[in-house]
Amino acid sequence: MAVRAVSAGGMASLSRFKGALVGAVLGDCVGGEFEGAEEVPMENVLLHLNSLDDDTKGDGTLEYSDDTAMARCVVQSLLTRAGFDEQDMARRFAKEYSLAPGRGYGSGVIQVLKKLSSSQLSDVYQPARDQFNGRGSFGNGGAMRVAPFALAFPDLSDVKKYSRSGAMLTHSCSLGYNGAVLQALAVHLSLQGALELPAQFLGKLIAEMEEVEDEEAARNDARALKEAEKPFCERLYRIRDLMDRSKVSIEEVICELGNGIAALHSVPTAIFCVLHCLQPRESLPQRYGGLERTMAYSLALGGDTDTIACMAGAIAGAHYGIEVIPEAWMKCCEGAKEAEVTAQRLHALYHQGQGGASAAGRQGRQGGGGESEEPATGSGRGDLEEELKEQS
Ligand SMILES: [Mg+2]
Repeated sequence: MAVRAVSAGGMASLSRFKGALVGAVLGDCVGGEFEGAEEVPMENVLLHLNSLDDDTKGDGTLEYSDDTAMARCVVQSLLTRAGFDEQDMARRFAKEYSLAPGRGYGSGVIQVLKKLSSSQLSDVYQPARDQFNGRGSFGNGGAMRVAPFALAFPDLSDVKKYSRSGAMLTHSCSLGYNGAVLQALAVHLSLQGALELPAQFLGKLIAEMEEVEDEEAARNDARALKEAEKPFCERLYRIRDLMDRSKVSIEEVICELGNGIAALHSVPTAIFCVLHCLQPRESLPQRYGGLERTMAYSLALGGDTDTIACMAGAIAGAHYGIEVIPEAWMKCCEGAKEAEVTAQRLHALYHQGQGGASAAGRQGRQGGGGESEEPATGSGRGDLEEELKEQS
């Protein structure tokens, strides 16, 4: 571990930035193989990962999906606007979708993206708010693309504020956008080297999410969906319990944390994958470093593998740095080289003077205001499982 910490460099080093952005792309590309699979034997995962070493394969043979397509829009918007600009970001999402609609977008978000492309639209948050009879989406689509926010804003409160607003362009339910906030916080802390002390890392996430989930809108959504009072906090406590156990099976992790398309069923799972793979594991090859272990483990959980591996890859990459990412993996994954280059630009933005992107971002119109004034969600709303059927 100590050696890796040195290779990743100090807090917010360039290596960590590259690791985060490239790690996310790798997870998306490599994880696509098992997306939606109910059971994924580790043997199959290792075969798939071994096949990446085959250099007879062409470059970029594993294509990225909506996760990376949208994250690229986030990166380009943050860089071009030197901060958060919801109009610009929304426009980029819509344009990207119209140019390459076949990247595996969910049917719900497609409706939003189509509305976002309308030139008559005055409020870019409205299409997301209208989703699912006004209840909004709680999918992991906001979280899957959120890592660049942690790489653009050095200040933790900016990371929280803008990652939330960025997610709300497509996911207006608090169980969607708060998942994005949690994922952004995890990347932010990892970038600071916080994973050197895993228990404190988790403690810090819990403390932040206690505050984030202490909002009326979040409480109303949790109640309406029959979830715990603070659903993400509750999952983080489950992670703490799982970490305390000497042995945890894949089945237990899926049962406790989930592997689905809801942010609640995938963001905490991705965080657990990273924490669990900080140490060598019996089921994984000894030659694997922490990032490879994290990838393999994320895929073995099945379910929404590309997004879980993408989110875990961002957190792990920010911890281990770019140096540990196998060159063969980078070569195979579409967009990985580009991510390495853009990470450099985000690194410059982050370190640019006092506040960097945050100063510019504050000038922008604040998104997502007023959702706490919305009435509590109406009756007749089912629980999360029921709603999932509708949202998937
Ligand atoms: Mg995807």
